[in-house]
Amino acid sequence: MPTIVSHVAVPLAVGVGLGRNVISRRLIVAGFIASILPDFDVVAFRLGIAYSDQLGHRGFTHSFLFAVILGVLAAFFASRLNTRAIVAFMFVFVSALSHGLLDMATNGGLGIAFLWPFSDGRYFLPWQFIQVSPLSLSRLLSPAGLAVVKSELLWIWLPAFTLMITLFLFRILVRRPKSS
Ligand SMILES: [Zn+2]
Repeated sequence: MPTIVSHVAVPLAVGVGLGRNVISRRLIVAGFIASILPDFDVVAFRLGIAYSDQLGHRGFTHSFLFAVILGVLAAFFASRLNTRAIVAFMFVFVSALSHGLLDMATNGGLGIAFLWPFSDGRYFLPWQFIQVSPLSLSRLLSPAGLAVVKSELLWIWLPAFTLMITLFLFRILVRRPKSS
């Protein structure tokens, strides 16, 4: 995985870029949660479940279907998220899906079970440009951890920041002047 902090880059960029009128504060928090929730599957290691198992790390919680389920849940609670169902679905779906896609771009570990439950296969993208992050914090604080941080700044935070600025500028440019 990229470090768990970097997974929030996607909902942060899209949410801030689109602005509070489109993405409510509660919805952006739901997006943050959806973007990191898949990695709570590391509890599987403690439960003795194998990495390669569909219940293991990068298993079903990293699938396309899991992102759809989180999106549907968000749509169901849309009024509590101060938004419309379609906006809640799209934002939370994209936030959760981005987690698996970023993991698929890392250069280590097993791939993700993107097509679960239709396939147990583990998948990577054809290009693995993100330095994989160690699962333990102590190893992340080692010199090798610096390479991970550098890689994530370049391949996650820089594109996310660019996306945020682009959405922000687009929003400013298309805003209709108020008639007096
Ligand atoms: Zn992950």
